[in-house]
Amino acid sequence: RPAASPPDTIAAIATAPGRGGVGVVRVSGAGLAAFARELTGRDPQPRLAGFTRFLGAKGEPIDEGLLIYFRAPASFTGEDVIELQGHGGPVVMQMLLDRCLALGARLAEPGEFTRRAFLNGKLDLAQAESVADLIEASTAAAAQSAVRSLSGRFSQEIHLIKDALIDLRMLVEATLDFPEEEIDFLEKARALPRLASIREQLEGVLDRARQGALLRSGLNVVLAGAPNVGKSSLLNQLAGEDRAIVTEVAGTTRDALRETIQIEGIPLHVIDTAGLRDTSDVVERIGIERTRRELERADVVLRLVDAGRPGETEGGTDIDLDLLPGVECITVINKIDLCDLDPARVEHDGRVELRVSAREGLGIDLLRKELLRVAGWHAHGEDVILARERHLLALRAALAHVRLAGDQLSALELFAEELRLAGERLGEITGEFSADDLLGVIFSRFCIGK
Ligand code: GDP
Ligand code: ZN
Repeated sequence: RPAASPPDTIAAIATAPGRGGVGVVRVSGAGLAAFARELTGRDPQPRLAGFTRFLGAKGEPIDEGLLIYFRAPASFTGEDVIELQGHGGPVVMQMLLDRCLALGARLAEPGEFTRRAFLNGKLDLAQAESVADLIEASTAAAAQSAVRSLSGRFSQEIHLIKDALIDLRMLVEATLDFPEEEIDFLEKARALPRLASIREQLEGVLDRARQGALLRSGLNVVLAGAPNVGKSSLLNQLAGEDRAIVTEVAGTTRDALRETIQIEGIPLHVIDTAGLRDTSDVVERIGIERTRRELERADVVLRLVDAGRPGETEGGTDIDLDLLPGVECITVINKIDLCDLDPARVEHDGRVELRVSAREGLGIDLLRKELLRVAGWHAHGEDVILARERHLLALRAALAHVRLAGDQLSALELFAEELRLAGERLGEITGEFSADDLLGVIFSRFCIGK
């Protein structure tokens, strides 16, 4: 990357809005030792937390707390960074921030700290994204996967595959200069087994990335069924003890109809259609529109039936389930405790039926397993790569080029070209070939202060 003009100094409140015991203002730029001296009246010691007063323009104290000075390049952004840990009230934090702005900083844009870390080579793009993923993780499993990506595990695997692609391509290109040897090339260089091995590695990563995508975004589940069939009871049973732990992403408006629970760390966004119907009574048109939108996003519909009253399947819903193509539908026969049925998973005509008792907790494990099966979840925590849609696209495209390469064995130029294209797509993941507008899109989704 060409060296740009020296970066300006940026500042932002790094802690979440609201009141807290401690709040942090983060500053990044050049020459921040002088900045810290003006702010506190003394020289900062790199990497030592010092208790100090934070002073206003006239030397009056604004707050007191800790100042930590990270000298470039040993910092998150690779620039000089100072962190001011003050008292976490909105007014104090704003005064501290204003003071930093008065000292020449400007307000950071969302994700700008992480963007600088990326531009200074502190993180690659996949790692930078995992910073946001970690902050936004809605389950512990997703958070752990994000930490692994942040530590570079995902990036390393991509690099290994890319290196293998480059090695093979260099061999092919070297052979191109000696056309009489082309025939022997594939044999001698073991090109085919090497290509096959690259393909297998890519397939493995893609599969684990798909699992990660699931961990990231979860599954949209719709609960349908007549009033009193046991929808709320079933939701409670599915949520189990984890229920209280699951929270919505801070700052988003909470939708009372949508509840997020988790099964083996997979977030399930459950919509109770009873709530949707109630809404439609009040503002009918909006309600119906909303029902339709929710259902469009559904991955699975759990259609509850009362074991004692099988006729009333859809008495309570305005939803024609046949209008949902591509959505898995699981029939759940509830209240089996009332009619002496055993919990079971039954399949007839390709339709899955589960017999449970939400109140007695019978058959709930079967239902959990069924939901994971429908989701396509088969991974074990450690292996999962918390991929984004753009990673999946790049992996799929790279794999397609590698497969095409295998079809081009009679034309080594084309073989080499497919390898090159595959490597280029992998490079997009770590950010080696990323256009500025892509960076803009990625970092603008961060919160300010990150
Ligand atoms: P919803 O209107 O579909 O959300 O139904 P609820 O979950 O509120 O349950 C309605 C009533 O059915 C409550 O009194 C529950 O205790 C009862 N119920 C729910 N599941 C079962 C079950 O498996 N067995 C029995 N016997 N009662 C149940
Ligand atoms: Zn209910």
